[in-house]
Amino acid sequence: METSTTNIRQVKKIKIETHLEVFDSVSELPKEIQDLLSKAQQARENAYAPYSHFRVGAALQLASGEIVTGNNQENAAFPSGLCAERVAVFHAGATYPDMTIVAMAITARSLNQKVDTPTPPCGACRQALAEYEVKQKSPISIYFMGEVGKVVKSNSVKELLPLIFDSSYL
Ligand code: ZN
Repeated sequence: METSTTNIRQVKKIKIETHLEVFDSVSELPKEIQDLLSKAQQARENAYAPYSHFRVGAALQLASGEIVTGNNQENAAFPSGLCAERVAVFHAGATYPDMTIVAMAITARSLNQKVDTPTPPCGACRQALAEYEVKQKSPISIYFMGEVGKVVKSNSVKELLPLIFDSSYL
């Protein structure tokens, strides 16, 4: 048997690292982020979630100082509903078309169990948020938590969604 290593093609590998910050509680955050999470909590309580009983609230801090909120809106035809994060960002885009989003706070609460694990945005919401980060050419800080407990901070949507698909591919 002949063994050769010369014909083995080296597969190039890409390693992707994500950097997140974890805070033990809301009280460790800057005052303006605590306020933003408070707005997200208020929005969360108005969620329309009769099917999942999982209420999510999102609050956006715009560079102009405005705060725009959203919550999940479910539908009997399940895919017709929308997550809190996209409700918030589309609401902001519709109301302030030239906006720059500085930060987003997300919080989730379940009527079935205590949510003490930070709840990140789903994949579809990450893609939707990435669009605005590309559009405004500046990163969006994202803070997410459950109902209580730790808060995770991502400095950019790209940290949560590497290899984003954007308009440069079209
Ligand atoms: Zn989502």
